[in-house]
Amino acid sequence: MDTCIFCNIVSGAIPAKRLYEDDELVAFHDVSPQAPVHFLVIPKRHIQNIMELAPGDVALVGRLLHKAQELAVELGCAEKGARFVINCKSDGGQTVDHLHIHVLGGRPLAWPPG
Ligand code: 5GP
Ligand code: ZN
Repeated sequence: MDTCIFCNIVSGAIPAKRLYEDDELVAFHDVSPQAPVHFLVIPKRHIQNIMELAPGDVALVGRLLHKAQELAVELGCAEKGARFVINCKSDGGQTVDHLHIHVLGGRPLAWPPG
């Protein structure tokens, strides 16, 4: 998708501070961090949001979550934890229509969201 910001990050057309990359996933720091640790993990393939997942995507989503956990540990969140968030469509506050998981850590976060 030429117009998708995250597809452009995958291709390298838009720069990002990458934390990790393999054939299926990319992780990079959020451009507007909301906590001392704030990064995103995305599938390289363009999937609009979590509502678009198909049964064949189960392994990919498992890898996405596990990579989010591994990187959270690497960035020092193992002891105090972190928030793992997937926003979906307008009510969920999604602003970039390419599936991504946010990982936020390094400070206590309020709950519930507003
Ligand atoms: P959403 O609101 O869709 O769940 O989150 C999208 C996130 O992507 C936001 O936290 C926003 O700061 C981040 N973001 C948007 N554009 C860019 C960009 O060009 N580069 C990076 N690294 N993050 C971006
Ligand atoms: Zn995309």
